[in-house]
Amino acid sequence: MANAPEPKAYILGIEAYVPGKSTSGDGRALTKLSANENPLGTSAAALAALAQDREDAAAYPDPQASELRDAIAQLHHLDPARIVCGTGSDELLNLAAQGFAGVGDEVLFSRHSFAVYEIAARRCGAQPVIVPDRDFTADVDAMLEAVTERTKVVFLANPNNPTGTWLPPAEVRRLHEGLSPGVLLVLDEAYGEYVDPSHQQAGFDLAKTHANVLVTRTFSKIYGLAAERVGWATGAPGIIDVLNRIRGPFNVTQGGQKAAVAALSDQQFVAESREHNRRERQRLADALAALGNHGISAVPSEANFILVRFEGALSASAAQDAMSDAGYAVRHLPGQGLPDALRITVGRSEDMTRIIASLQGACRA
Ligand code: PMP
Repeated sequence: MANAPEPKAYILGIEAYVPGKSTSGDGRALTKLSANENPLGTSAAALAALAQDREDAAAYPDPQASELRDAIAQLHHLDPARIVCGTGSDELLNLAAQGFAGVGDEVLFSRHSFAVYEIAARRCGAQPVIVPDRDFTADVDAMLEAVTERTKVVFLANPNNPTGTWLPPAEVRRLHEGLSPGVLLVLDEAYGEYVDPSHQQAGFDLAKTHANVLVTRTFSKIYGLAAERVGWATGAPGIIDVLNRIRGPFNVTQGGQKAAVAALSDQQFVAESREHNRRERQRLADALAALGNHGISAVPSEANFILVRFEGALSASAAQDAMSDAGYAVRHLPGQGLPDALRITVGRSEDMTRIIASLQGACRA
């Protein structure tokens, strides 16, 4: 008999998620450009809703998040019955894998995509299948080729983290069309609100019209509510039903629900955040392009961060040290196969000015 509880072997195959840092190697507090948070903070309306909610801490939250689902449905022209909320979209990504895949099944996703997909696959005993990408972008042909009889779930982050690349609607549709109806396609649009509104996005249309598409979104990014842990997903009733069966019954706090409703009502804050991001991301991209002769290049981004590659004399870790000396934490992802790259969140204007100066200085040194 075992003398201690034995964990599942497939659980021990999981490498725990490594969150973005907020301190330097020697323990100094750094400004975080490592977790893709909104540098403008949170809408004042959402903060006011949060402050009000503190008086009601003894009561359980609404288990159905009804008001929040209605508000989401209204903004995005969706059916509230086809929406489920989660403890961040992380919970929903995990539930999607757990609901539709298990031991003996495969969960497919692109190389250099969101680290939670592998954890979500392994958590339910499924085999993660990592498909090579092309130019740091999901390669639809390669993904379709990698599908087998055992494939049950396909994850696509669009825009993708950590690369920032975005797959246009025609490519997303082509991926969907190539999958059999028995495969669940999870379109993770955590950064969807950062995409230029003039671009069409395929996710919601596919989720409305097909039984095998789930779109996930979050209040953690442009809505500036990462601390509250609120995400949501929309898809066919059969998928939503499965997620409702296995989610935590009170998985979104009352404060989180109230704050998210208020945040949705402040679309001006969202538009300002998107515009700030577009402007500062462009300024950072231009500055990086000017350092091209030092082997530095930026992967084109539609998100609120840029993946920067260091292929010259200045290494990614030396650049990270320079930015740390300037007071900033950025993300180095050697564990995700990106030892030569850093992911830099688009911060406040003054942060971007200092980040650019520190990189220029490091190149001259
Ligand atoms: N998807 C992607 C692509 C992300 O980058 C993140 C946050 N790092 C999430 C989902 C999860 O965010 P949350 O759980 O805060 O909604």
